[in-house]
Amino acid sequence: AYLEQIDALEPSLHAYRRVTPELALAQAAAVDDARRAGQALGPLAGVPVALKDIFVTEGVETTSGSAILAGWIPPYQGAHARRLAEAGAVLLGKLTMDEFGMGSANENTPFEPVHNPWALSHVAGGSSGGSAAAVAARSCALALGSDTGGSIRQPASLCNLVGLKPTYGRVSRHGMIAFASSLDQAGPMAREVGDAALALGVLAGADPLDATSLDAPVPDYLAAVDQGARGGLDGAKIGVHRGALELEGLDADVRARFEASLTRLEDAGARVVDIELPHFEHAVATYYVLATAEASSNLARYDGVRYGHRSAADSLRQTYEATRHDGFGPEVKRRILLGTFVLRAESYADYYGRAMKVRTLIARDYARAFERCDLIASPTAPIPSWPLGAKIDDPLALYLLDMFTIGANLAGLPAISIPAGFTSAAPRLPIGVQLIGPRLAEPALLGAAAAHE
Ligand code: GLN
Repeated sequence: AYLEQIDALEPSLHAYRRVTPELALAQAAAVDDARRAGQALGPLAGVPVALKDIFVTEGVETTSGSAILAGWIPPYQGAHARRLAEAGAVLLGKLTMDEFGMGSANENTPFEPVHNPWALSHVAGGSSGGSAAAVAARSCALALGSDTGGSIRQPASLCNLVGLKPTYGRVSRHGMIAFASSLDQAGPMAREVGDAALALGVLAGADPLDATSLDAPVPDYLAAVDQGARGGLDGAKIGVHRGALELEGLDADVRARFEASLTRLEDAGARVVDIELPHFEHAVATYYVLATAEASSNLARYDGVRYGHRSAADSLRQTYEATRHDGFGPEVKRRILLGTFVLRAESYADYYGRAMKVRTLIARDYARAFERCDLIASPTAPIPSWPLGAKIDDPLALYLLDMFTIGANLAGLPAISIPAGFTSAAPRLPIGVQLIGPRLAEPALLGAAAAHE
């Protein structure tokens, strides 16, 4: 049924980079055999899932949305595809994304950009836009995205989904193609909070192949969802940094839906308290220095020798140059240039070093705020979806849209985006609300999201 849905919708949606029907049917048959034989089934037995194309899949082309990786067929299985398969999930295919995760609209790609199922002329968000569109359109039951600066939460909010970015290290990064390694984290995108909890339970846990993965015990996330849905939020304190809502550019509908969500959380027993995040305004600048610096280092491996595309030329040096010239898109080139600039010996202290210090201040802001509240609420994105092509020539405007999401990445904190209603005028577009928690507070986030649901 899902493969038929994909066939029917893909011509207008473009959420899939590649569909893997043979693999899906073989995995489904194996689950069915196990069921018939009376074997124990995994928690995702028979659930049709799809992966953002940033996740390495053995034997299935993996491009991270880039022409430079076109044709690369990984010789190994990444942690995410492996854990999902072990849990019985069925892989339907790989989903479109902004090149290397760099973008907010899925338009930074040499391939066809994804369209928003709620309004086909509009963007689905990014960089995990294919994941969001596929789940929202029921072209898969569940998808994984990656979140370096909001790429799970922002498309989830633009497509009316639940999107969870776990605590840094909660989920392995092994087999997730690196963008900015100190910020990257994988997580689920789902239509309901319970689905996200189920998937997180499968993905979370230590991995000897990722030295930054945490070996904290994995709690029962589904129990947290049940508890939130049943018992509400008795006494939980939800912090709001009001100053962030006064910044320029917050859409009136987004603000109204955010206030309505606060009321909803209060109705479920929470108390809303004011908090301050004094360095909030510096998060975007800090992120775009650090993320580009790390990206310029991570992307140095695409040299035309080791992976994917090669533009052969007369010398090795010319081969590097031609490969990168042809293989990387304009946004990726812009970020590599920015990243190498901030890391130059002459500018390191002024840019990279200073951004690292501000990152520490931002993390400290959150730690102080959590002395006064249990979770922090904000809009997920300052505006709802916009027409395809409308912002493609204004990268700075797109960077500013990340203001609410990147703090959680800089501080390594878990954060969730949950559906909060729709815009008041046509086209009715989804709006999301974000909750951020202290380190490893995924159960509290999922519980609050379930109480809100
Ligand atoms: N908008 C962010 C960026 O372009 C999204 C990054 C991400 O989370 N992958 O960097």
